Amino acid sequence: MKALVKTGPGHGFSLSEIDRPVPRSDEVLIKVSHAAICGTDLHIYEWDDWARDAVRTPVVVGHEFVGTVVEIGDQVEQIEIGTRVAGEGHVTCGHCRNCRAGKGHLCRNTISVGIQRDGGFAEYVAIPAANAYPVPAEVPDELAAILDPLGNAVHTVLSFDLVGEDVLITGAGPIGQMAAAICRHVGARHIVITDPVPDRLRMAERLGATRGVEPGENSLREVMATLGMIEGFDVAFEMSGSPAALSDILSLSNHGAKVGLLGLFSGSAMVDLNNIIFKGLTVKGIYGREMFGTWYKAVSLLNSGLAVQPVITHRFPLEQYEAAMALLRAGEGGKILLEL
Ligand code: NAD
Ligand code: ZN
Repeated sequence: MKALVKTGPGHGFSLSEIDRPVPRSDEVLIKVSHAAICGTDLHIYEWDDWARDAVRTPVVVGHEFVGTVVEIGDQVEQIEIGTRVAGEGHVTCGHCRNCRAGKGHLCRNTISVGIQRDGGFAEYVAIPAANAYPVPAEVPDELAAILDPLGNAVHTVLSFDLVGEDVLITGAGPIGQMAAAICRHVGARHIVITDPVPDRLRMAERLGATRGVEPGENSLREVMATLGMIEGFDVAFEMSGSPAALSDILSLSNHGAKVGLLGLFSGSAMVDLNNIIFKGLTVKGIYGREMFGTWYKAVSLLNSGLAVQPVITHRFPLEQYEAAMALLRAGEGGKILLEL
């Protein structure tokens, strides 16, 4: 089968012809139809410090995908051949304290598909049956392919009560854009989103943000004044990985505000922690998706009218992955799909 492989240390991927994986007894084999590229894939492509530490080469990359189950291991009972499934990329151990308590998203022994085991930028991928999420027919393939990042947004946004609240989102990448749409869908009042890239702000506004603004305290204070916000944001979501954005959040949050941190920082961030203390902020770190409560909510939100399709801006056949990676590196567009 053809697959995009990180063959070893260094820059780039290689489009290779490799053996089709054989599912183990608790796994399913999926024929992938659509996959999506994530910022993580760019880190692996460029082989930065994070990738050097995290990736086990050689590995087939890609962790956002949808396809059809074509083979099942002999112990798999809950999924039938022919089922259309999306992949949860975090493979958990099942026996640590959190796993046993039903909190798999907090598993200490998580192995990531497309990073530490073979992933979905390939004609076929094998994953544990427990990680294959059956997708209802109403969800089209393209949206099913991005249920993983949509799930990141859902997990973050649904962490706090948003009804009637004023929300600040920092970072209008695809996940921030989808977060804006979810905040609108569940009944937030004002949703202000920041990003230095104007096109991304316009897309976030199209999806439901009240106002997209340049990052920084001054521009945000201006917008707050025009919206009649006096006391500060009730809820904030950091979705850029920028320390400056986190500072914006800490200084403009109301007392007692709730803060969700999803964006990954490339190093340690300097922020004024006294804001957290004196304002009595609640700060929650978010990693991945709750298994599988987040998946259920994501699909239900789509079924109840959540519209995030516009975040998908480009499609390429797998063979044109270099063009797709170049587009991602340029920070242009939104979610980029690979078609198998
Ligand atoms: P992305 O890189 O496409 O989006 C980040 C956006 O932040 C960009 O549009 C960028 O212009 C903007 N930005 C940069 N500096 C900013 C600033 N000072 N203020 C406001 N915006 C600023 O990424 P994405 O795919 O949308 O993902 C969002 C973040 O979530 C990334 O940091 C990603 O690494 C992280 N992530 C975390 C998890 C998790 O499980 N915690 C999962 C997936 C992604
Ligand atoms: Zn575990």
